[in-house]
Parts: sequence; structure tokens; C-alpha cells
Amino acid sequence: MDEIIMSLFWGIFGLIIGSFLNVVIYRVPRGESIVKPGSHCTQCNHALKAWELVPVLSFIALRGQCHSCGTKISWRYPGVELLTGLLFFLWAWRNPAEPLPVLGLHFILLAVLLALALIDWDTMRLPDVLTLPLLTIGIGSSFFLPMGLSGGESLASAIGAGGAFWLIAKIYPQGMGLGDVKLIAGMGAFLGFPNILLALFIASLIGSIIGLLWMVIRGREFRAQIPFGPFLVLGAYATLFGGDCLIQAYLTLF
Ligand SMILES: [Zn+2]
Repeated sequence: MDEIIMSLFWGIFGLIIGSFLNVVIYRVPRGESIVKPGSHCTQCNHALKAWELVPVLSFIALRGQCHSCGTKISWRYPGVELLTGLLFFLWAWRNPAEPLPVLGLHFILLAVLLALALIDWDTMRLPDVLTLPLLTIGIGSSFFLPMGLSGGESLASAIGAGGAFWLIAKIYPQGMGLGDVKLIAGMGAFLGFPNILLALFIASLIGSIIGLLWMVIRGREFRAQIPFGPFLVLGAYATLFGGDCLIQAYLTLF
């Protein structure tokens, strides 16, 4: 019972972090500060009051419109809030014994991955200000916190996965950017070996299926590419939430 209450608490905390992620996703690619000025309507500059900043509920109360100018607010804002809340809730629910610093670290991972996926989707870029801290925190924390990975394992996995994809990016620069390489290294630092391989496998599988469907539906050339970052993040989430089951299922095949 306590566990579900704690998980719900972390879920609500996730809604608030999701609200902040909306700011990050909008402002980081534009090179704007994520602190100042406070949240405002991007159309009329109306500064949002406290009651307009409550995750999800404000969107419903405002019926999806700016209170001042009536401009439509994208469904994505409450969507990101709900998704972050759900991710935090599920993580806390599945990992009730996790010590607070490790839990916090995993929340950072889940949140930064979500921001990166959407920024890459919007702009085809994975900003260094998000990928490099993720990599540094992933390796650094594994030396100090009982994350399941030792510092050496984290470092080796980051260098191994990042290095392999760095080579791919050198040989085939149209297919992958250095932003993807940094994200893969960061994922390696958190997931370790062999989980990073599972994440990359899932990412490539879903990415190629969606890529093919995209070509069939839109009739686009392969050059008009869809970003790889969102699929990397899907692979990381699938591994984080179901990796043990997936690897077990795979091993029982033999
Ligand atoms: Zn407005």
C-alpha cells in the first residue's frame, strides 16, 4: 500500500518535471535561457500566472487556449507532462527498493531522454547541453552510487557503444550524426553491457520499420530522413522497463 502511495507521489512529481521539460524542449534548440523569463504565451507574451502553470489541469481549465489571446495550446504540452508522470510512476512502482539518490538519477535519465527525443523530432538535432551531461552523469555516478553497474563497466560500455557508432558515423555520415553518437555513449553509461546492445537493437528495428512505412506512405526519398534519436530513446525505455524480461525470453529460445 505504501508502495503505491509513494509511486503516485513520484508520478505527480513527474507531472511537474514534465512541465519543466516542455520549457526545455521549446527553449534549448532556440538557444534561450530555461530559467528567465518565466513561462509565457509564445504568441502574445502573456506571462502565465500560477493557476495557468498546473500540469495537465491548467490545460483542461483553459480548454487548450491561451487565457489572454485565445491561441491554441498544443496537445503536446499536457502529453509530455502525462508521459513524464507515467514514466516516473512506473519506475518508482517497479523499483521500490531503490535508494533515493539512485531513484533521482534514473528520473534524470528518463526525463533527459524524453526531452532529447522530442527536440530531435522537432529539429533533427541532439544538443550537446543535454547529451554531454547525460554521459558525464552516467559514468560519474556509477563510480559513486550502487546503480548495479560498476564505474569500469559503465565507462567500458559508453566507450564501446559510442566508439562503434562513432566509426559508423565517420563511414556513413548521412545515416547518423555525432549527436546520436553522444546519446548512444550516454545510454551505454547508464544501461551497461549487454543491455545497451538490446536498446540499440530495438532502436534500429523500430527505426527501420517506421522508416520503411514512412517511405511507403509519404513516397519520400530516403534522404528526407527521420531522426534516429526518438528511436534510440524508445530502445532505452524498452530496455529500462522490460530489458530483463526481454533478455530472459531471448535466452530461453536456445
Ligand atoms: Zn497568448
